[in-house]
Amino acid sequence: MILLKNITVADKVSDVLIKDAHIASILPAGSAAVEYEADVEVVDCIGKVAVPGFVNMHTHAGMSLMRGIGEDILFHEWLSRIWEVESKIDADYVYHATKLACLEMIKTGTTTFNDHYWHMPMAYKAAQEMGLRSVLAYVICDRNDPQESERQKQQCVRMYELVSSWNDTATFAIAIHAIYSVREEMILWATEFARSRGLRIHIHVSETEKEIEDCMAQHGCSPVEYLDRLGVLGPDVIAAHTLWLSDADVEILGKRGVTCVHNVNSNLKLASGYRFRYNELRDAGANVCLGTDGCASSNNLDMLETMKTAAMIQKAWRKDPSAMPINEVMNMATCNAGKGLGLNIGRIEEGALADILIVDTDNYNFISPGSFEANLVYSAHSDSIESVICNGKFIMRNRVVEGEKQILADARVAVQTLLN
Ligand SMILES: [Zn+2]
Repeated sequence: MILLKNITVADKVSDVLIKDAHIASILPAGSAAVEYEADVEVVDCIGKVAVPGFVNMHTHAGMSLMRGIGEDILFHEWLSRIWEVESKIDADYVYHATKLACLEMIKTGTTTFNDHYWHMPMAYKAAQEMGLRSVLAYVICDRNDPQESERQKQQCVRMYELVSSWNDTATFAIAIHAIYSVREEMILWATEFARSRGLRIHIHVSETEKEIEDCMAQHGCSPVEYLDRLGVLGPDVIAAHTLWLSDADVEILGKRGVTCVHNVNSNLKLASGYRFRYNELRDAGANVCLGTDGCASSNNLDMLETMKTAAMIQKAWRKDPSAMPINEVMNMATCNAGKGLGLNIGRIEEGALADILIVDTDNYNFISPGSFEANLVYSAHSDSIESVICNGKFIMRNRVVEGEKQILADARVAVQTLLN
């Protein structure tokens, strides 16, 4: 058991008791009776604030060694370059790249990541070793080749069989890369495969204006309408980007209860657009969350940076400072994501899984009469996150992550895979 003593939770100084993977109790400071029991580790948290661990709802962790390989080019040119580079990667590369991504995520306060990448058993191994919670999707991306569809169907079935041996901090999901890179028959197969097994479906949707134009030309409707026509959309779908949306698209995504993931930095950097329709999606009933996307487009996995940019761009393009209030920014990075993934995470409350950031407020960013959340998102950086607990265990203490030096050394070797 861990007792976080004198930690601030929602403006109240409290004692938080963690038992196994869960938050067992949150009591007024000084009233936890277990303090002197032998099996309790007492951590003094005076001046520190507990925040739910962030959830990165769209990433490709294995791209952590691809920073900077496609700068200053448009999305479709960028994607061709990525696919060329990805033809060189192997399982070993993905293992080390994902370990590096996990290191970065822990240091920047992410405790759960929703991943979409190749060689998922290696991502599983890396996430388990690092102690992070993960949702790992088998990627369907046949690039319109029927033979590749068949190969991926068989591999998907084999991968799914591995799940019985997985630890409960990892969840299997199905990724359908996008409507332009997966054959219709395969989209239907993947949807049926996921839905009949209660798995989440993770898909890139309406990321670029070109995707809309191409879909209109090919199917006579928008990507959202096309997916709805195929019966794909539902509350089990996590749609990354949803950037180029008509009013009808917003209504469909809301009605189907889809989780829409805003990846603001990736969209800005690839010049895909910035007018994410946050307020409309929220009001229509969609579940809006945040993600970083992979490091080849967003260049880092920092959720605090994503939260700040998302809010600022939203306020700016709408000329409305109330467009994305601070409490909603926090919810998008935490409890909305828990809902989207169907996991008991994203809240600091009794009974929830213990995924907790301990934020040190003893620095210039927090000495103010303003709200803690605003100071955290708009002023502070992730170096204020002193320690991280995931699934009831410390995975970073006082900014130290076990094995950090070795992870960096191994990543330096693995990056050579991309250069051969
Ligand atoms: Zn992506």
